Amino acid sequence: METERAQQALLLNELLKQSILAVAMVTKDGQILFKSQGFDAIFGNHRQPKPDGPIETLISELLICDENKLRACLNAEENSQTLCQHKYDQTPYLLTISHAVKECKLISFQPASTTKLPSRPEEADTLTGLGNRARFERLIQNPISLQNGDQAAMMIIDLDEFKRINDTLGHPVGDKLLKLVAKRFKKIFRKDDQLIRLGGDEFLAIFQDQNTLDSLIKLGERIVNAAGKSFIINGHQIDIGASVGIALAQPECTKWDQVYRQADLALYHTKRNGKGSVSFYSAEIEEQTLMQRAIEIGLKRALLKQEMFLTYQPQIDVKSQAITGFEALLRWDSGELGLVEPDRFIAVAEDIGEIQNIGRWVLETACAEAKNWPDHLMVCVNVSPKQLMAGSFIHDIERILDKENLHPSRLELEISEEVLFEPGADAVVEKLFSLGVRVALDDTGTGCNSLRQLKNIRFSRLKVDRSFVHVEGQESPSDMVKTVLEIGKVLGVPVVVEGVETTAEFQSLKDDGCSAMQGYLFSRPLTKDAIPTFLETIDKHAGGINE
Ligand code: C2E
Ligand code: MG
Ligand code: MG
Repeated sequence: METERAQQALLLNELLKQSILAVAMVTKDGQILFKSQGFDAIFGNHRQPKPDGPIETLISELLICDENKLRACLNAEENSQTLCQHKYDQTPYLLTISHAVKECKLISFQPASTTKLPSRPEEADTLTGLGNRARFERLIQNPISLQNGDQAAMMIIDLDEFKRINDTLGHPVGDKLLKLVAKRFKKIFRKDDQLIRLGGDEFLAIFQDQNTLDSLIKLGERIVNAAGKSFIINGHQIDIGASVGIALAQPECTKWDQVYRQADLALYHTKRNGKGSVSFYSAEIEEQTLMQRAIEIGLKRALLKQEMFLTYQPQIDVKSQAITGFEALLRWDSGELGLVEPDRFIAVAEDIGEIQNIGRWVLETACAEAKNWPDHLMVCVNVSPKQLMAGSFIHDIERILDKENLHPSRLELEISEEVLFEPGADAVVEKLFSLGVRVALDDTGTGCNSLRQLKNIRFSRLKVDRSFVHVEGQESPSDMVKTVLEIGKVLGVPVVVEGVETTAEFQSLKDDGCSAMQGYLFSRPLTKDAIPTFLETIDKHAGGINE
């Protein structure tokens, strides 16, 4: 019996030695009796000669931990645990001391979840008391290690409108606001969730427990709601919001930086799609976002690389069937992305502030080109409301007309309906009229148009969008076209209908009293070099371009 036990003990000893678990047997005074292969794998590579001697020295040499907690744990009479982190590879470990064997202790190290890493004083954000960027940097260096059934996830929160508050009410108010926001967020997260202020108005949370897509989205929505409720600071009511991006680590994913990248893409998607909501990372979002980013980056260099050019689409007077002018339509032939449609890049250019430069270039180029056309032909240039409202706009127009020596009456600016909601737009438009430049309302009826507002700003023409001309399953243009034609009559403003493609549409619009048209029926947008030939052909077939 005795020999059998001794044999078993030897066998156990041998098994433990070969185990990949990191365990060591130490005497009561801390001398290592034996250690497993797993133990050496963690500690052996970082020390010459290989670890031996008192366990306390070894631990304090190779691990970062709270010294008092460690000593208490080592000296405890009962089984005890403490958290520590490897000094060299940053892995967090849960150190467990078991007193199972008489006179000896069994010490084991299990990789611990990143979120349970002990925090250090220098890793606290002084303003909000949350973790700071240094903590984030340390956390994400660790591999993702999960208990059974746990899911790793990351949430990035970016405050909407914070910059405006900081700029208008000052930094002390901005700081107070961040403190209050952090307080609201803390109430929503659980104690074990790691909440960090990455910097400025950007927060991040790391989760490493039983998370589901559903629970995370609900959590994100609670964050959005919490940030969306008014704050009162120094008597000011402050309204901001929050945009949230979330990513759940794939089962095979072991690195936090990959989850961070995906959460960041999801956040970007939220920011670009209306803010104040939650997006969850998906491959589809990644594709869209990368494309959006590529457009942003490309746009910044597009003019410099001479990738932009204009095409010109003729407009005709229905009665005389003569060409009255051309609308300049912007094209971008990107080296990286190929030909990009204006509907895909104009809004991005507005968002990133590039529209001023691009819009100025369009005006300069279109006016320079129009100078080469017969004097009676107008050039119509699309202008973004943001561009119109920029302080330098009127000056730019005066300078360009002067430089090109183009009569102001030959320039018509086309502005979309958002302009009706821009305070002060009426004054800018009046100034343009006083210079002799015309201003048309583009795509009338597609925005949230109010008739009252239409009367507040003067327009030389109303343009009807092509979506009102082609109606699914219908041969003739919709009643909306008739409505805009009526509004034009009431306001005494001529109406141009866009997107006329067939003779049936032409005839129907003509019968409804439409006096000017534009569309593929007459011509697709032309390059500048094609214009002289086009005009010559029209002259030869005068009176017969559309029937
Ligand atoms: P828009 O100003 O309403 O321009 C008319 C759009 O309808 C043009 O699309 C034109 O090519 C298209 N179109 C014209 N006739 C027909 C037709 O018969 N059938 C069909 N299916 N389409 C027709 P494009 O060139 O893609 O421009 C789209 C929008 O991008 C423009 O709509 C305008 O809002 C904007 N845009 C274009 N160039 C500029 C620019 O230089 N500055 C600004 N801010 N916006 C621009
Ligand atoms: Mg237009
Ligand atoms: Mg239009």
